[in-house]
Amino acid sequence: MQSEIFKLLLENYPRMDPHHETWELWMKPNKTNFEFYEVAIGTILVQNTNWTNVNKAINNLKNNSITSFKQMVELNKDDLIDLIKPAGFYRQKAEYLLILSNKMIELLQNRTIPNRSQLLDLKGIGNETADSLLVYCYQQASPIIGTYTRRFFARNEGSVVYYTMRYNDFQYEIETLLGLDFEILGRFHALVVCHCQNLCHKLKPMCKNCFLTNTCQNSIF
Ligand code: SF4
Repeated sequence: MQSEIFKLLLENYPRMDPHHETWELWMKPNKTNFEFYEVAIGTILVQNTNWTNVNKAINNLKNNSITSFKQMVELNKDDLIDLIKPAGFYRQKAEYLLILSNKMIELLQNRTIPNRSQLLDLKGIGNETADSLLVYCYQQASPIIGTYTRRFFARNEGSVVYYTMRYNDFQYEIETLLGLDFEILGRFHALVVCHCQNLCHKLKPMCKNCFLTNTCQNSIF
């Protein structure tokens, strides 16, 4: 993988990504309390769904004045389930949101930045969500690996090994490619997600329209 690909993604997406504003919010370093809350709950809501559904769930919460972790934990669980229904897996996500919100209240009270293992100890938070929280909420440099990252690397590098590579090894590979800078890692992850949602689809990738065809090693995986 060449870092040239990162530059190509950076050049092409700001103008064509329909969720550009969302990502700009996620990348913003000095978030307001509400923005911090919105991004944190977004890392749970976005699991196994798309931005459109996440935004519907967040709007439902906003319209019902649930705009902080404290308000969320005070909410009746069944009401929370109803409000986040558009994001799917709503019972599970409601449980995870309550666990995360309680932890966030504790961290904010103590003015503490969590480490990766503290986040991974929370039910509902796996590697990808923990790293998303570290990068987008705490501006910590931690490479984020998701399904899209695996597909993107497998195709661009022409190797299925990326589908099964251990998470930590994959992180090391991205760290070698891009270095450890939260801004670069956060943007790279956002761009890979955008690329896979817009062009590099799981089935029938739109290679004819893709600006990476000259460097992409394989489009059949
Ligand atoms: S050329 Fe095709 S397989 Fe390669 S990155 Fe572009 S859309 Fe994906």
